[in-house]
Amino acid sequence: MSWNCINCEAANDYHHNRCDVCGYERYFSVSEVNMLLQKKDEDPSELKKLKTTYKRNNTITKKLREENREIQTQMADLQKFKDTFDHELTNKQSQIIRLKNKGFYYKLSLVGAFFVILFLILTQVNIEIQF
Ligand SMILES: [Zn+2]
Repeated sequence: MSWNCINCEAANDYHHNRCDVCGYERYFSVSEVNMLLQKKDEDPSELKKLKTTYKRNNTITKKLREENREIQTQMADLQKFKDTFDHELTNKQSQIIRLKNKGFYYKLSLVGAFFVILFLILTQVNIEIQF
């Protein structure tokens, strides 16, 4: 029976206590530990090793829980920040769109004015020719 590394998920030999790939220590689940504890004729040094691993893994789990709690707090803060400024951001975006539209109409009126002036110049030339 092989075991999977909790760090890199590699399958390892049952008799190895460290991951062959990343060197991470083998993780024993609570049921595995209890099962092995029931085998009293087992080698006592093996039992000691298991207890140490169990304690260490408990510590790792505790640390991970703390980290997880911290990250969740940070995420909640970020969500609050987003909720606060989301509305403002949407406002700014619509302002930018309005300004872009205005710029387009200004350009359009410039082109229109150019053609009007051109037309006026041309008609004046025509008028001058007629006289
Ligand atoms: Zn590994």
